[in-house]
Amino acid sequence: DTKDIKVLLLENVNQTGVDILKDQGYQVEFHKSSLPEDQLIEKIRDVHVIGIRSKTKLTERILKEAKHLIVIGCFCIGTNQVDLQYAAQQGIAVFNSPFSNSRSVAELVVSEIIALARQLADRSMELHNGMWNKVSKGCWEVRGKTLGIVGYGHIGSQLSVLAEAMGMSVIYYDILTLMALGTARQMPTLDDLLEQSDFVTLHVPETPETKNMFRKSQFDKMKDGSYIINNARGSVVDIPALIEAMRSGKIAGAALDVYPNEPAGNGDYFNADLNSWTKDLRGLKNLILTPHIGGSTEEAQSAIGVEVSQNLVRYVNEGTTLGAVNMPEVNLRSVTMEEPNAVRVIFIHKNVPGVLRQVNAMIATHNVEKQMTDSRGEVAYLMADISDVKEEEIKDLFASLEGLSARIRTRVLY
Ligand code: NAD
Repeated sequence: DTKDIKVLLLENVNQTGVDILKDQGYQVEFHKSSLPEDQLIEKIRDVHVIGIRSKTKLTERILKEAKHLIVIGCFCIGTNQVDLQYAAQQGIAVFNSPFSNSRSVAELVVSEIIALARQLADRSMELHNGMWNKVSKGCWEVRGKTLGIVGYGHIGSQLSVLAEAMGMSVIYYDILTLMALGTARQMPTLDDLLEQSDFVTLHVPETPETKNMFRKSQFDKMKDGSYIINNARGSVVDIPALIEAMRSGKIAGAALDVYPNEPAGNGDYFNADLNSWTKDLRGLKNLILTPHIGGSTEEAQSAIGVEVSQNLVRYVNEGTTLGAVNMPEVNLRSVTMEEPNAVRVIFIHKNVPGVLRQVNAMIATHNVEKQMTDSRGEVAYLMADISDVKEEEIKDLFASLEGLSARIRTRVLY
């Protein structure tokens, strides 16, 4: 029953998310901050659902105590704070919200394109320091200029539409062949994009292939006096090479929102000179530096609350794993679930041969309406909607599934 579901929400997750969980009738305990480890262990023993942001570390040591936990919601983008593999092995699904802030990032890039073209940050800094410095040399309109988008996913494609609305011509490069929006054009190679772009903006994920994707050889291929924007990940740009390209005038301006080794919290990170390049970077002209705020808006925060809570509710009530980061994605749309004597069986198990045959032998005495299984690494997820199940049979069915050696977790929803 939904009234029996206990939810622990930490780190002040967005109100939009809290409301959705409360509306389900779940018992929701809300905390503004994270909990010290001993208190977290005490509380996690009891709950079925936990919602966190980036500060709460859900390690194997803590998850071991979470005997009733079925799902973790990360009300943020990253999931490094959770031991995903261990969670999957315990049958605990993990959800996050990777795309709720795409629009916010795309809008920030729009502002940066114009700000770089007009050297806005320098003029503002100068006047803050008392200096009236009216210049037009090296300042441009963006209309008619070419924007090169590297990575045409959620953010890149949004940006494509916004940039065209400002009269820019848009080209993009992606490892996938993707349909162009508006009059944008996909380039066959990164080099083609670099040779033609006045502004290059990066929207690729952090992968082995994108590590230092932008280094000296890429800057060399860019147009003289072009601009580069990195709101993707710090690992994508080799910063010493960027510093070199800016000093030589090859690159006329840059905006960076992300860095290698970002700090965990706010503070005077750049004064600490943790990176050999910090000092050199800080003095450069027409360089906009922001502290990883690309997705930091009120709208993105509410959207995260909604997306993660909806995923949690669907998982708790229906067992749907669409969007889970550590489990195979399984979903059934079933009308039979609403019928009396219909149940949904969820069997999370070790991905070893022979399990399906055993499970099907157990449910075969009933009418199997729909079934889906998928695996991800060592974990497999089976969902079956079966009808003609008498109430007194549910316990036996549950017990027989629990008796299988490959079992990780069994749920029977009705
Ligand atoms: P996405 O997954 O929707 O799109 C990424 C695109 O990059 C995909 O189309 C993919 O095919 C392409 N790609 C992958 N590897 C590539 C390669 N080697 N070369 C060319 N293209 C490649 O992701 P998204 O939501 O658009 O986000 C992009 C990045 O932006 C993410 O990695 C994320 O880390 C970063 N991001 C930053 C902020 C911020 O606050 N600054 C906020 C959100 C996202």
